[in-house]
Amino acid sequence: MSYKVAKFGGTSLANFEAMTRCADIVLASKATKLVVVSASSGVTNLLVELSKGNLDAAQRTSAIAKISDIQSNIIGHLTLSDTVRSQIDALLKKIATISTSIAELETDLTLVKSQLTDELLSCGEQLSSTLFAQVLIERGAQAKWFDVRDVMRTSSDFGKATVDVDIIARLSAERLQPILESCGDDGVIVTQGFIGSDEHGQTTTLGRGGSDYSAAILGEATRCSQIDIWTDVTGIFTTDPRITSQAYALDEISFNEAAEMATFGAKVLHPSTLVPAMRQNIPVFVGSSRDPQAGGTLVRNETESKPVYRAIALRREQTLLTVTSMDMLHAPGFLARVFTILAKYNLSVDLVTTSEVSVAITLDNTGSNSSGETQISPLMLEELKAICQVKVEQDLALVALIGNAIDTSYGVGARLFSTLNDVNVRMICQGASSHNLCFLVDGEQATNVISRLHCAMFEQNAQGVA
Ligand code: ASP
Ligand code: MG
Repeated sequence: MSYKVAKFGGTSLANFEAMTRCADIVLASKATKLVVVSASSGVTNLLVELSKGNLDAAQRTSAIAKISDIQSNIIGHLTLSDTVRSQIDALLKKIATISTSIAELETDLTLVKSQLTDELLSCGEQLSSTLFAQVLIERGAQAKWFDVRDVMRTSSDFGKATVDVDIIARLSAERLQPILESCGDDGVIVTQGFIGSDEHGQTTTLGRGGSDYSAAILGEATRCSQIDIWTDVTGIFTTDPRITSQAYALDEISFNEAAEMATFGAKVLHPSTLVPAMRQNIPVFVGSSRDPQAGGTLVRNETESKPVYRAIALRREQTLLTVTSMDMLHAPGFLARVFTILAKYNLSVDLVTTSEVSVAITLDNTGSNSSGETQISPLMLEELKAICQVKVEQDLALVALIGNAIDTSYGVGARLFSTLNDVNVRMICQGASSHNLCFLVDGEQATNVISRLHCAMFEQNAQGVA
């Protein structure tokens, strides 16, 4: 059976009008059989606030009232059955109960707190999926609500759980595939992104923005023919259009280029999204639910064009960690020790450059967990300091030039650095991939750097344009 997965982001489901546009998209595509949703925009942020445990009763009530208002505004346009109404009420009640439990927890119960946090955060997607299924039903679709936790098996790393692809494939074959196959022409399944469940049945989350990834994992598990990611922009742009109004949407981009973009800061797709799509060679379409007529970007294995410069990505809040030790001179194993410590604290390293006695590494703050806490802990620094001197610099920006054959094309570096001849470039990384050239600049200079590069490489008369 050939069918598509459609994922709708928070802004696409922010209110009834937005949900109606998404319903139009689903109803217009007979092939769309599985719909994966984020929480309505704003809801996860409010739940994260509640999960911190530092709000007093009045502040909690006000946050919950905001969540409840978002639901009521949608419900006001629907004729809900008593069952659905009581499901929504039960979820709102659950939000209140868990928020109070977290606020009253003893401070040392960190595991319990993270379990409760994921349970709490999962309510956003449960609410939006319940309501969106109703919107579809009222529009005449045979929409079925499906609890993704029945198939989305993850580790117990609350806040940033990892998925178990094999178990998910098996559970999907048993529990999801039969429903998909029995969907008639008007049939569609609505389920939640972002959330999963560990082997003990405890609710987990995949990290902020994880719904795209959920859609791709489900698409892979059920072998869909395409994954449509509906968001609030008309595709993947040459660079963030808020930085330069000259940025434009790309018609196509390869998996490799898009993965680099997502990794290096383009916010359109969650960085892990393309991994399952690439494994199964499933094309991913990115478009705007506000303006589906505008088209979007198709991400696939092979693109028709292969320009040297495709896009520029920016990732802010980079930390540069420089470790120095004389022991490193001709000594095997030093890097392994440094990386072992970083791995122990679950930190993922981005760029690395080395000299004879020092190693510079960039760490990403955006890779933090669902509750937004940074992962660079004093304990980790302590451990590093036991084997070397450590310098931490913050607020840097990582700029990534993305394209094709960057490693074998002449003049890329010359073009880039002559455009930026008055900028202090802190670290340069190139060579590991033919698809990117990355460098660090001071956070405050980032926008200026990108506008100038975009102008030189992507606008009129620039060579290598897509
Ligand atoms: N609702 C979650 C978040 O805001 C997941 C998502 O939107 O993808 O992070
Ligand atoms: Mg989202």
